[in-house]
Amino acid sequence: MKIIFLGAPCSGKGTQADRLLKDFDIVHVSTGDIFRANISQGTPLGLEVRKYTENGLLVPDSLTVELVKDRLSKPDCQSKGFLLDGFPRTLSQAVALESFAKIDAVVNLCVSDEAILKRVSGRWMCKCGATYSVDTLGESRTCERCGGALYQRADDNPATMQKRLEVYNTSTLPLVEFYRGKGILVDINGENRTPDEIYLDIKEALKK
Ligand code: AMP
Repeated sequence: MKIIFLGAPCSGKGTQADRLLKDFDIVHVSTGDIFRANISQGTPLGLEVRKYTENGLLVPDSLTVELVKDRLSKPDCQSKGFLLDGFPRTLSQAVALESFAKIDAVVNLCVSDEAILKRVSGRWMCKCGATYSVDTLGESRTCERCGGALYQRADDNPATMQKRLEVYNTSTLPLVEFYRGKGILVDINGENRTPDEIYLDIKEALKK
């Protein structure tokens, strides 16, 4: 299966990806994770993209498309299929993607800007990929899955999130209609419900 997760930053894509990967043997391809890994390792790619990610701006399409094209050409993605999380984010990325992958389904996680701005300062992450909200985490800052120390993303602050939301609404939102027009998009209500409830809807939709 070849799936895209669309949704604003902090809409729960990572949390839902985690659940999906437990049920389906597919490869998680998160462009944000790839960029962050390169930044923390200080690679040439990391040095190049840092100025964009830290300011809530999109990394140029040419660079991002080549990175994803290369990743999807690897044997694991070719044999198992994949979940694209954070890509495509522009119409030009979506058009480019069509030239090297045939997507089966697009899951659009719908969460209002107000809810996202409320969520962002309470989001904690672990290096293992787990994501937590302070609402359920309480005082603990330890990962329940691997025991690792939790951290907050450098770009998870209200000012940068405002910019990321603007960028999402301008550059990425048009993709909702692009994929709806192809008949492969499903809208999922990602607000005011537990992650498990949201995941049940996603699983149901993907069965169809
Ligand atoms: P994310 O973890 O998906 O929120 O991505 C973090 C940051 O990485 C974004 O704010 C962008 O700066 C960059 N990024 C991730 N995916 C893309 C993409 N498809 N196109 C351009 N920039 C991206």
